[in-house]
Amino acid sequence: MQRLTFMACLLLLGGLAVQAQTTTPGSSPAADRLKPMVSFDVNAMDKSVDPCNDFYQYACGNWIKNNPIPADQPDWGRFNELHEHNQMVLRNILDKTSADDSSRSSNDQKIGDYYYSCMDEAGIDAKGITPLQPTLDRINGLSGKDQLPELMGYLHTHGVNALFSFGSEPDAKDSKMEIAGTDQGGLGLPDRDYYLKTDAKSVELRKAYVAHITKMFELMGESPDKAAADAATVMKLETALATASMDRVERRDPNKTYHKMTVTELQNLSPSFTWNSYFATLKGPGFTSLDVSAPEFVKGMNQMVATASVDDLKTYLRWQAVHATAPILPTAFVTENFNFYGKTLTGSTELRPRWKRCVQFTDGDLGEALGKAYVAEEFPPASKAATLKMVNELEAALKTDITELNWMTPETKKQALDKLAHITNKIGYPDKWRDYSTLTIVRGDALGNSLRANEFEFKRQLNKIGKPVDRAEWGMTPPTVNAYYNGQMNNINFPAGILQPPFYDPKVDDAVNYGAIGAVIGHELTHGFDDEGSQFDAEGNLHNWWTPKDREQFDKLEACFVNEYDGFVAVDDVHVRGKLTLGENTADNGGMHIAHMALLDVLTTTPEKPTDGFTPDQRFFVGWAQVWCESERPEFARMMAQVNEHSPGKYRVNGVVGNMPEFQKAYSCKPDAPMLRKPMCRTW
Ligand SMILES: [Zn+2]
Repeated sequence: MQRLTFMACLLLLGGLAVQAQTTTPGSSPAADRLKPMVSFDVNAMDKSVDPCNDFYQYACGNWIKNNPIPADQPDWGRFNELHEHNQMVLRNILDKTSADDSSRSSNDQKIGDYYYSCMDEAGIDAKGITPLQPTLDRINGLSGKDQLPELMGYLHTHGVNALFSFGSEPDAKDSKMEIAGTDQGGLGLPDRDYYLKTDAKSVELRKAYVAHITKMFELMGESPDKAAADAATVMKLETALATASMDRVERRDPNKTYHKMTVTELQNLSPSFTWNSYFATLKGPGFTSLDVSAPEFVKGMNQMVATASVDDLKTYLRWQAVHATAPILPTAFVTENFNFYGKTLTGSTELRPRWKRCVQFTDGDLGEALGKAYVAEEFPPASKAATLKMVNELEAALKTDITELNWMTPETKKQALDKLAHITNKIGYPDKWRDYSTLTIVRGDALGNSLRANEFEFKRQLNKIGKPVDRAEWGMTPPTVNAYYNGQMNNINFPAGILQPPFYDPKVDDAVNYGAIGAVIGHELTHGFDDEGSQFDAEGNLHNWWTPKDREQFDKLEACFVNEYDGFVAVDDVHVRGKLTLGENTADNGGMHIAHMALLDVLTTTPEKPTDGFTPDQRFFVGWAQVWCESERPEFARMMAQVNEHSPGKYRVNGVVGNMPEFQKAYSCKPDAPMLRKPMCRTW
């Protein structure tokens, strides 16, 4: 379980419960094949559109027209295409390793048998809910609230994230040490606001959610009446937790989610829940203080536990247990889970093929064992070297940018440059692979494998408490099509999965690569200096290094982005949330700015001629835009606007280039062209 590490990613992927269950980018029905990915695609463009009117449509128009969203997907874009490609590679590895062969290596046995068990739908169906029975028995055995902490310890250890979350995290104010931490949690809907908003759409979604819980209880053998009553109970308890939860925008401020206190102080917040009993059940390292990210939530949870009956708590926990395991239970559970989380919440009409789900679960539970095989097949050393070279160039560009800023005083610049100099780069895959030798994977025991993998991971996280932070550890698996900046480790991370076309292509000109992977690198570097990242210092500590006057200037420049993106429409009457997406928009804008600076540097020593009728500058901007070609179902777009810290692809393109005089020049746009933002926002 990953808790409060301040990680800012390139895009949302697997970060939400709902995502993990249904919607990681994945498939197109006719795509059981490996297709070559294209970096700069003239055929994707719609040249009938004036780039100065709508650059996104100009760069992506034909791609969007020719690539409808597959039935089993909530959205479809270039990231999905690449993810699809990587899934095929992983499937080939798993097909080979899943043969029952005693000469397999230990890792191959684990990934192969995990995948084989997951694919064995008939075997899973035949067992029914029996594999979950020991968990349900424990819940049913709860006879008093004094036993709740012990039960929660068991459930958390086995991947049932009910009531609250607990784990380890780097101490925000002593970034070299791992400490214990607890945070809000325990909801089945993607966000607290789903429980609290009163508009018609939200009311309708809540009804559908209660109907879904009812059906899940029926599948567990309850009568329709009992199931309906139990679902209402779950809704009541989750609403109490939601009401006590912090909202996403507030949580962007790291000072508001850091409250280090003693265990006694935590106990005083919640007299109805004996924390020491919970900690004792976990059997992890001892500690006397921890970070309580959301103290108000702890109080609200205490209130909920104090007022609910033991039967109500058992009902809520039964739901959470079946919800957490539904994707690996018999077909009826999988289908009902998809009906709500896939169809209702994201608009997909078909469940993804089983193999794609099983590849995803293997990646989720045994990511570095599978990833090691992936890297051996897909990631040549030359790609690592080329990426490292670009990272160095982008860092040099950001150094120049900071040095030349006209709004920052020399005092703060010195600190900013020191922070930049301390950023470390991780490219491709871990230097030291995770050791899974203590995790048992049994052929034919799909749910057991999943529960044991959860236990392995939970204990691995727990065992960090009180130890130095391992900065070499990765927060993403190697095949992942994504990248991130970690504020507490002050490092940028690029998994092998993204270091290929359309992001990086050794066969195309620098202009295109700088617009794509160059801007992605710039994006991650800029996260160190966005509204959240800028609150961490060179060592990764939550420590203010700004003069008050410089911070005031920064906030003023950032407010420009908030206003600008607030104006963009995500779907229907739903707008992009400027404050929620501020860090990502800052990173997109800063990233493109310094990527362009770096490109200009390269072009002075190795000039490029126009290609396909486009100048290098023009190709740079198309390179960026074509990374973001995508379509979203309206249901999904609505959900993303609520929970995703990233803007929709269209605005990651039009918002960014519209802020750049360099774009205006590249396409000779008139000053009053619709693409150009008034005012043009820029921080970095
Ligand atoms: Zn980002």
